[in-house]
Amino acid sequence: AKSEGRNVYRFFEPGMDAMVRARRALETDLEAALRRREFELDFQPIMNIASGEIVGAEALMRWHSPARGLVPPDDFIPVAEEIGLIVPLGEWALRKACTVAAGWPHGLRIAVNVSAVQIKSGTFARSVISALAFSGVPANRLELEITETVLMDESDTVLKTLRQLRDLGVRIALDDFGIGYSSLGYLRRFPVDKIKIDRSFIRDIDNRDTAAIVRTVIGLGAQLGTTVTAEGVETEAQLEFLRKEGCVEAQGYLIGIPSKAADIARLLESRAGI
Ligand code: C2E
Ligand code: CA
Ligand code: CA
Ligand code: CA
Repeated sequence: AKSEGRNVYRFFEPGMDAMVRARRALETDLEAALRRREFELDFQPIMNIASGEIVGAEALMRWHSPARGLVPPDDFIPVAEEIGLIVPLGEWALRKACTVAAGWPHGLRIAVNVSAVQIKSGTFARSVISALAFSGVPANRLELEITETVLMDESDTVLKTLRQLRDLGVRIALDDFGIGYSSLGYLRRFPVDKIKIDRSFIRDIDNRDTAAIVRTVIGLGAQLGTTVTAEGVETEAQLEFLRKEGCVEAQGYLIGIPSKAADIARLLESRAGI
């Protein structure tokens, strides 16, 4: 019993304490970061494969922390979700993205990532409508990227909110398609305007089985009348495969890396199809 007690004690001290403290510090920094305007959006272009024209861009959040340097979104978005900060942070991103896109050539779309926590908050539809009104961007130029965790929610708040936005003309894209548990079931539950094939499939497209899956998802999109976008396109060979298979859109380093608002505006003006 004595040694067990010692083990338990050792388990919590001091490593655990350090982890808890580091996590608290991250939460505190994150809370302050929004007030201190340390967040920024980069924009990555999306291309129509058949025409080669840029059709829009996806907003990707960046945290420039004076103390931590550039923190990748995969490191801070999950924490922001847990502490509820994603609601005001996501609202900021939506407004900022729409404001930037308001200056783009007519017809170009702006895609914004949205987390499940935001949609469940109950104020989401209102903040989307307000961002559109504030920026003057028409609803059909805004695309909200959700993952299937959003559609996994049992309550009908989520589906009602998405339907309400879709009725306004806002487009809904299913992000990271293929890596979840039952993406097909969710497509039946909620019809989306776009499917984004996760970049892990594109990276591995040389593999015969992976190629078969990508081909099938492209066919699925065609059957459903849903735009299919391939993420993470890095090579000409990958783009060629996607073109041959009739994939509608491509996004990735080959087409363009995520760039500052001013740089993307220049690119969009020179390569937009209008
Ligand atoms: P995502 O929505 O799947 O975004 C695509 C990610 O792939 C981005 O990473 C982008 O920089 C990266 N990427 C694009 N093209 C290529 C490529 O050719 N090769 C490779 N290796 N990577 C490529 P990033 O910017 O680090 O974002 C990571 C994730 O963080 C996003 O994945 C998204 O889930 C989340 N995120 C970013 N911004 C926001 C936001 O404003 N709100 C929410 N809720 N989540 C966000
Ligand atoms: Ca995305
Ligand atoms: Ca994605
Ligand atoms: Ca992803």
